Amino acid sequence: MSASELNAKTAVELAKLLADGEISSVDLTTACLNRIEAVDGSVKAFLSVDREDALAQARASDERRAQGKSLGPLDGIPLALKDIVAVTGQPLTCASKMLENFVSPYDATSVEKLKAAGAVLFGRLNMDEFAMGSSTENSAFGRTHNPWDLDRVPGGSSGGSAASVAAAETILSLGSDTGGSIRQPAAFCGTVGLKPTYGRISRFGLVAFASSLDQIGPFTRCVEDAALFLDAVCGHDPKDSTSLPDQKTDFLAGMASLKDRKWKIGVPKEFLAEGLDPEVRASVESAIEFYEGQGCTVEEVSLPHSSYAVPVYYILATAEASSNLARYDGIRYGHRSEEAKDGIELYYKSRGEGFGEEVKRRIMLGTYVLSSGYYDAYYLRAQKVRSLIRKDFDDAFAKVDCLIGPATPTVAFRAGDKVDDPLSMYLSDVYTISANLAGLPAMSVPCGLSSEGCPIGMQIISPVLQEAEMLAVAKKFEDAHEFSGIVAPDSAKGGASS
Ligand code: GLN
Repeated sequence: MSASELNAKTAVELAKLLADGEISSVDLTTACLNRIEAVDGSVKAFLSVDREDALAQARASDERRAQGKSLGPLDGIPLALKDIVAVTGQPLTCASKMLENFVSPYDATSVEKLKAAGAVLFGRLNMDEFAMGSSTENSAFGRTHNPWDLDRVPGGSSGGSAASVAAAETILSLGSDTGGSIRQPAAFCGTVGLKPTYGRISRFGLVAFASSLDQIGPFTRCVEDAALFLDAVCGHDPKDSTSLPDQKTDFLAGMASLKDRKWKIGVPKEFLAEGLDPEVRASVESAIEFYEGQGCTVEEVSLPHSSYAVPVYYILATAEASSNLARYDGIRYGHRSEEAKDGIELYYKSRGEGFGEEVKRRIMLGTYVLSSGYYDAYYLRAQKVRSLIRKDFDDAFAKVDCLIGPATPTVAFRAGDKVDDPLSMYLSDVYTISANLAGLPAMSVPCGLSSEGCPIGMQIISPVLQEAEMLAVAKKFEDAHEFSGIVAPDSAKGGASS
């Protein structure tokens, strides 16, 4: 697939072509829909695509533009959505049998904002059920394949969001990140993936997994596209009580104004320790050397409590999930068993049939850590350690502007390799989870390819609300390298062919 094809370009490039009248949104949307038809039979990023609705939005965008009423740079740009965010009249399954037939009666706030920016919102993207997983193998509707190598996983839980951008089936996509579900799949599929500061983007209409950790964010082909997405979607929302007050948010201009800074970069020594694949390490180390060569200062820092991040996350996230998922009882919401003889059995059977293995495992774990007698020992203690993890970052950011390390310990693994070993699956997020626990913005940027041709991602973590600077740091690297902006080659082993 050559980058000259419309569906393989970046949103910033396409915004210009649209503004200059060189292409129409219908051309662009058609190119994406055709690409989906050609390759999604093997990538399987989408659970459903409403072709007519997408083309109707594209036509409306072209008409607006013809009347001189363009809504801005995203007007007419196709943007596909993880099947966990609500769009009026579209399915909202969370890749679960529990919500197999659910159609959303309302728009998420992020969706309202993207509609107001004119984006062509289309498609429901595959994911791990209720966003629980790291490989998109936990979907009740089949796994998604990594477009770089169809035998490998795209990462998770937003695997469909990452794979669709990497396979040039859409220009942009939306995902959600509770412990790494944007950054890890972005790293595995060679896209940019960004999780903003907790509270920057409204969670209203994002189906809740772990409410104190969940954030919406973009998958893009370049850093500027991520800034465009944030410009459209960030902002206070009275419908989300954890939403931050409005901030000044011109990320595109903000990142451009910071581009010549000589940053102090911290490298957490715990992120380059045992368990890191040598090729990932080598790529990240050479990225760090690049920054040194640009006049940045690089300093080793320590996040002494980071080894507790995974266990703390699996206590807090499961506790919150057990409470959030209580509503799916077959009575108020979700799949209803047809075999129950009374109300109690209806509840048991509906949940038993509707939820998959991993979701049940987490509900049980979460219920356990919240139960009387264990609450203090697990839940409360985990909250305390969460504060220590947050403080580690405060201490590090007293010395440096941002942190750089690997996004993931390995490149994309093969399908089936970890699916029966939850603990090893959980470790896929060892470098990403801490940013969620501390509420910090973090992103993955493509920084290399392994000897087997798999993408490698570096992670940048910034202090709260410093997204513009984080984007500027990422762009500095991107401008000097060729790793972003490429789509998975059709010639890759087992790769998607058009
Ligand atoms: N992989 C992690 C989990 O399984 C993170 C998921 C996420 O960020 N939604 O919980």
